[in-house]
Amino acid sequence: MNPALRIRLLMELRRSGVSDTKVLAAIEKVPRELFVAEPFSDQAWDNAALPIGCGQTISQPLVVGLMTQALELDNRPKVLEIGTGSGYQTSVLASLCRRVYTLERHKPLLTQAEARFRLLRLTNIVAMHGDGTKGWVAQAPFDRILITASAAEIPRALLDQLAVGGVLVAPMDTAPERQDVVRVRRTESGFTTESLFPVRFVPLVAGVPEDAG
Ligand code: SAH
Repeated sequence: MNPALRIRLLMELRRSGVSDTKVLAAIEKVPRELFVAEPFSDQAWDNAALPIGCGQTISQPLVVGLMTQALELDNRPKVLEIGTGSGYQTSVLASLCRRVYTLERHKPLLTQAEARFRLLRLTNIVAMHGDGTKGWVAQAPFDRILITASAAEIPRALLDQLAVGGVLVAPMDTAPERQDVVRVRRTESGFTTESLFPVRFVPLVAGVPEDAG
């Protein structure tokens, strides 16, 4: 991949508010061309969401940068991600976290993402096919939770699986035709929520597809 394209993207992310150098370094390191289908590989380092099959998209690099930064991943936390998709965001998280647990409801997407994790030798990712709205009870609590699909409410199970002192970042449907990324912090006494920036994500859908596809 042409290094000039990487540099162009990183400069664009910096200009648009990704200031955490560890996050920028993680994005620089993950070969995004491996996460998109062949016809789109020449656009892999564009700041754009692209189709990945099953009606889903790989997130826009700027959104990956801003959401990763919003998670405050110092001290290599244990993270749960909902919506593996292509596995791109998961791979960015993997270089900043002790372990990343990731759930995807579309089996074909999960299978492809797992192959990419093996290829890149990202051994601290644990991926599973399943309904992310239920979280991952056996591995809870999590220091950080990232949801990469949007819903009107954060599923209660995910809030319950967030450690005290933990941070959850997710897109939320805040009005018709509007989504905002929110950051939720769990304190000793409850939860505090702040709204960060507008986004456009595919919906968070409960359950797994009938054909397991
Ligand atoms: N982070 C991904 C993009 C995610 S698109 C990337 O970088 O490529 C959102 C993903 O969330 C889609 O793959 C969609 O299938 C998945 N998803 C939606 N609802 C879900 C649920 N309840 N459980 C698990 N995954 C879900």
